[in-house]
Amino acid sequence: MTDSFKCLACNHEKYHMVLDMGDVPLANAFIKDLSDTADQNREPLSLVMCPECDLLQIKDEVDRTKLFSNYLWMTSTSAGAKAHAEKLSTRLWEKFGSDEKQPFLVEVASNDGFFLEHYRDVGFDILGVDPSNFAQEANDRGVPSIRDFFGVKVVDKILETREKPEVMVARNVLGHSSELQDLIAGMKKLLAPEGTLVLELPYAYMLRAELQYDTIFHEHLSYLTVGSLHNLFKRFGLKITDVDFVHMNGGSLLCEVKHEENETPANDHSMRAFEEFIGLNSIEGWRSFTKDVNKQRRDLVALLEKLKSDGKKVVSYGAAAKYMTMLNYCDIKTDLISACGDANDRKQGLLCPGVHIPVVSPKELMDMDPDYVLIGAWNFKTEIINLLRNDYGFKGEFIMPLPYPEIISD
Ligand SMILES: [Zn+2]
Repeated sequence: MTDSFKCLACNHEKYHMVLDMGDVPLANAFIKDLSDTADQNREPLSLVMCPECDLLQIKDEVDRTKLFSNYLWMTSTSAGAKAHAEKLSTRLWEKFGSDEKQPFLVEVASNDGFFLEHYRDVGFDILGVDPSNFAQEANDRGVPSIRDFFGVKVVDKILETREKPEVMVARNVLGHSSELQDLIAGMKKLLAPEGTLVLELPYAYMLRAELQYDTIFHEHLSYLTVGSLHNLFKRFGLKITDVDFVHMNGGSLLCEVKHEENETPANDHSMRAFEEFIGLNSIEGWRSFTKDVNKQRRDLVALLEKLKSDGKKVVSYGAAAKYMTMLNYCDIKTDLISACGDANDRKQGLLCPGVHIPVVSPKELMDMDPDYVLIGAWNFKTEIINLLRNDYGFKGEFIMPLPYPEIISD
């Protein structure tokens, strides 16, 4: 492991260690069979805090070409995503909609255009920017999208033909950006003077409070708080004018951001005071994190070993990237969990990176007649329980791994 470091937000070269997880396989390196060695490429994974701007981030960035893009696995078809898209688009129209002049909305990292279609349906003029091949798919469906990484360069291209947007939306973008400063500079440059940037991102308070260490993986580069966002935006002449919460990804912030010169006052003071009170942006506030995470690991492995010695069959459900972090950190293999169900047919038939637990369809999983199902993708807990209980008649029990391992019936 190299000891060099450069803060994603402020270029500072020193850091505080928060959690060192050692060398782990890339979370999306699913393999076809044991002759496939893609998952043997282990990379250091540790969470650090910048002492200068308080940004929590992964210390060692993995070469981009080695990463398996999350986009491969993204799906916009879940009922939860649909409900959220409807709610968010209605909320945005109520706040920023206008019947006089159709407001222009740009979505950063618009993926397959699923949310864009909802923004268009409520009345916005829309444009998406996304680096994946889904941008082309969206275009083909009549959802205007540019295929590119969002930053100053693509903004210059947009401004050649378009006005500045009144609304910009970026959901789960900041934490995955390796070019964070160029991303924010691009947002600053594109946003109309009276415009609003709406950001949705997982809140690092939940990472600490609920021990969501499984959300730490190589492609998830930074972990944000209102305090670190405030510091970041300030450096680019932006300010937070509203903070709200949504039940996405285990607890997310929904922030509104405007230009520093905008007459709407900044409105993040009470949240920053709260974070200061609980030590969220200081290394002292994270002192017991490693100890707590290690306790969860011990307890989870002990529970699985106990069930095994009792002759119980344990499987799991939801082959999400985050679950791969947990399996590898806890070193849970097929002797403790025989299979992992997932509805995504692109994952079925593959082996989980590092631990080689086979991914199977929900039906194959239930045909194994398990006694317990560990919920891997815990942010879809309700959907998973409903699916297995209602569609497959599962009568056994569930194991929730976080914040502490717990057996639940429903
Ligand atoms: Zn920094």
